[in-house]
Amino acid sequence: TATAAGVRRGVWSSASRLQSCMSAWVIDQYGTNEVLKFSEEITAPTASSPTEVMIRVHAASLNPLDVSMRGGYGAKLLKLRRDPMCVMANDSEFPLILGRDVSGVVVDCGSQVTHFVPGDEVWAAVPPWKQGSLAEFVTLTDYEVSHKPKSLSHTEAASIPYVANTALSALVNAGGLYRDGASNKRVLIIGGSGGVGTFSVQLLKAWGAHVTVTCSQNAEGLVRGLGADEVVDYTAGDATEQLKEMEKFDLILDGVGGETEQWAMGMLKPWSGAKYITLVTPLLLNTDSMGLLQGSMISSGVFYRWGFYAPDGPALDEVSKLVDAGKILPVVEAQFAFDQVPQAFQKLEEGHARGKTVVMVA
Ligand code: NDP
Repeated sequence: TATAAGVRRGVWSSASRLQSCMSAWVIDQYGTNEVLKFSEEITAPTASSPTEVMIRVHAASLNPLDVSMRGGYGAKLLKLRRDPMCVMANDSEFPLILGRDVSGVVVDCGSQVTHFVPGDEVWAAVPPWKQGSLAEFVTLTDYEVSHKPKSLSHTEAASIPYVANTALSALVNAGGLYRDGASNKRVLIIGGSGGVGTFSVQLLKAWGAHVTVTCSQNAEGLVRGLGADEVVDYTAGDATEQLKEMEKFDLILDGVGGETEQWAMGMLKPWSGAKYITLVTPLLLNTDSMGLLQGSMISSGVFYRWGFYAPDGPALDEVSKLVDAGKILPVVEAQFAFDQVPQAFQKLEEGHARGKTVVMVA
């Protein structure tokens, strides 16, 4: 069991809280896949503050951010977020553990944690400024954690939290959409076949929105199966010509960025509060060199906003209900064993994701 494994390694026991070692994939420097190292001597993160929850990781999943962070993306801002006052004795972020999704079992809770007890099956998205889930244990604050859907295995569950928190934050906080107000909305998802896209299609359909997706031709079956109403194949000539023929949209969620920004704003209904939300923001990159930038503006009667992942356990509680009701399915494209983490990164770097890449940790 999770607990027995923890005790065997001297990480955790019901009688005492030991800070000891665990297995994890870490990086000691930024770079390409060669910097990923497996170690059995990483200090296990304990529930040292009253609101913390220590989780035995059963499965993790990878996001494009993991590949970027492996290369040093956002290093300056994330370091500042970890240690805003620059008071930590060790001012190095290394050894750094990547992995932004976890599905696992609670092994220990701080004294003020009321929502979870050891033994609970939970899922969570790990904020980028915290040590990640490619490890035996991860410790999070209680508001970041949620009870995992009962109908999913850990492997399936690990495919959802980070993309779900991202999609919800982008659609609700930046986009102003909500469950009971989406039924008359027309939404375009640019890049519907990856992690965020396959989740967002299902969420928006569960909320009753009309969903159009752009993706490659060979992903059309996947996104239609998830509920997409209209699919535009961006590889078959100029997608914008097809989109221009359609009724304009109330919201565009862009997971591709780049040149899409130039045409997407023109696909929105003007002067109606319509919003273009891009997930491909320069925030972490620019903050490294230029300081914080503001990602919101209005132009030609439509809004332009940046969408971001935000930690939110209660939002995952809502997603859990939709999953257990069969309205949102996990889309796991590839599974890797814990000793194959470099191969999992390689898979992600090849691009063309069709859902998520999951790592089975235990
Ligand atoms: P994935 O890698 O899982 O998916 C990307 C998908 O886009 C792939 O299916 C790819 O398939 C497809 N694609 C590529 N080019 C195009 C195109 N021109 N038109 C339509 N589809 C295209 O990424 P995620 O879904 O996890 O994330 C999407 C983006 O959002 C990433 O850039 C990520 O970094 C960003 N992101 C930002 C967050 C934030 O907080 N701001 C949080 C999470 C994600 P194919 O190439 O075969 O078409």
